[in-house]
Amino acid sequence: VTTGTANIGVVGLAVMGANLARNLASREGNTVAVYNRSPERTRTLLAEHPEAGFVPAYSVEEFAASLARPRTAIIMVQAGAATDAMIDALVEVFEPGDIIVDGGNAYFPDTIRRERAVRETGINFVGAGISGGEEGALKGPSIMPGGSDEAWQTLGPILRSIAAVAEGEPCVTHIGHDGAGHFVKMVHNGIEYADMQLIAEAYDLIRRGTGMSPAEIAEVFAEWNRGELESYLIEITAEVLRQEDAASGGPLVDVILDQAGAKGTGAWTVQTALSLGVPASGIAEATFARSLSSHPEQRAAAAGLPGPAVAPALADPAAFIEDVRQALYASKIVAYSQGFDVIRAGAAEHGWSIDLGAVSRIWRAGCIIRAQFLNRIAEAYAAEPGLPLLLSAPYFAEALGRGQAAWRRVVAHATGAGIPAPAFASSLAYYDGLRAERLPAALVQGQRDFFGAHSYRRVDRPGSFHTLWSGDR
Ligand code: NAP
Repeated sequence: VTTGTANIGVVGLAVMGANLARNLASREGNTVAVYNRSPERTRTLLAEHPEAGFVPAYSVEEFAASLARPRTAIIMVQAGAATDAMIDALVEVFEPGDIIVDGGNAYFPDTIRRERAVRETGINFVGAGISGGEEGALKGPSIMPGGSDEAWQTLGPILRSIAAVAEGEPCVTHIGHDGAGHFVKMVHNGIEYADMQLIAEAYDLIRRGTGMSPAEIAEVFAEWNRGELESYLIEITAEVLRQEDAASGGPLVDVILDQAGAKGTGAWTVQTALSLGVPASGIAEATFARSLSSHPEQRAAAAGLPGPAVAPALADPAAFIEDVRQALYASKIVAYSQGFDVIRAGAAEHGWSIDLGAVSRIWRAGCIIRAQFLNRIAEAYAAEPGLPLLLSAPYFAEALGRGQAAWRRVVAHATGAGIPAPAFASSLAYYDGLRAERLPAALVQGQRDFFGAHSYRRVDRPGSFHTLWSGDR
């Protein structure tokens, strides 16, 4: 069996793989082997980046021969069948102890399945979530690897060398075994959906409430980005709103079709939350809001339905904008709290030991949801690693207490004015649901016992009870 000199290889040289390979090659001590199904991509990458010193391979055999042992290769091809095909091909030419990393956006049950199958051969399989898009891949992504401890020994230093850095710490940690990395990447994307929807609702409320132009609202977001909301998503929102359209001469946002696309990670997060019994309502509303926007035929059918006869006037637009800022922050706390709950429940379900504080720290740079805010989450878990509910940590509880009146005014205004704010409203309902002393769940239990003899428990004594309802059939 021949081995070569490259300490790391990249398979799949489309934009993500090519950028990751260049990132790897730019770090001291790395020699990078590259392979792509169609040789043109490999040739182009070599021609455009002679400085990288890539070791090209034009077959998987040649690729395996170019790598030093344990061979370590990161696959960056289309998720799904293409990933399976590449894993199968590499398993044929790799040996026990070697490491195959899937850096694509795999659905975590696929990663669990693949890890189990590859493990049979003695080869290590690592599903690694990589966030940050093209630029992250090139300059430093946030990386969420799963897989075995053995694989992490070899992989850790390599991934640390290319990851984004937040306050001196590389944004990568061994999340947990088998599918844990892709699970956490999935929830990252779910939180991203919620964060984006909340920002979009904030924009809509301000625009419809105050009549400000997108460019003026861009300044509001730029200002918010200097405070506790500071984040990549707020920053790019200001830029998107500022953008003018050359063709129409107006704001670009006004000529973009208002139907949001999705690649599925939001829906996966919601499906997973549902099956785990975790109320990730903010992420769900954000995902459904994209679905609602993407049904033009239904929107056309509903277009004539009545709204409020008189829109409530805003007494003080500046005060309203500050209310929206506070409502956004409060709703954001809920979205992240729900996201971390999904991770906690997923870890319990799959037997992963996931350090939630470490997850919040590796999201501070490189990824789409990077934000100052994640430092507060890291602090909350540092103070109490077993925190049962993130939003009850002192810092967040205080922030929610401070913002709740504004939050209610904003949701009331949205409702009165007929402006849809599903993520704001559901986050507030979640908050009120959790803090309620008594919930009407008691009545639901009564109904369930009535029609299905499902029984109920009592507040005043232990045991399970069934009532002989007068309507009993
Ligand atoms: P992509 O368009 O998803 O995939 C193109 C690559 O897949 C090409 O190298 C292509 O090879 C290869 N491929 C397709 N079918 C194949 C098969 N049957 N066998 C072998 N190779 C096959 O590329 P991408 O946009 O760079 O994304 C790569 C991965 O990263 C995907 O899983 C994607 O979901 C993920 N991604 C992540 C982010 C992020 O922010 N984290 C962003 C974008 C993408 P040929 O050249 O031979 O066609």
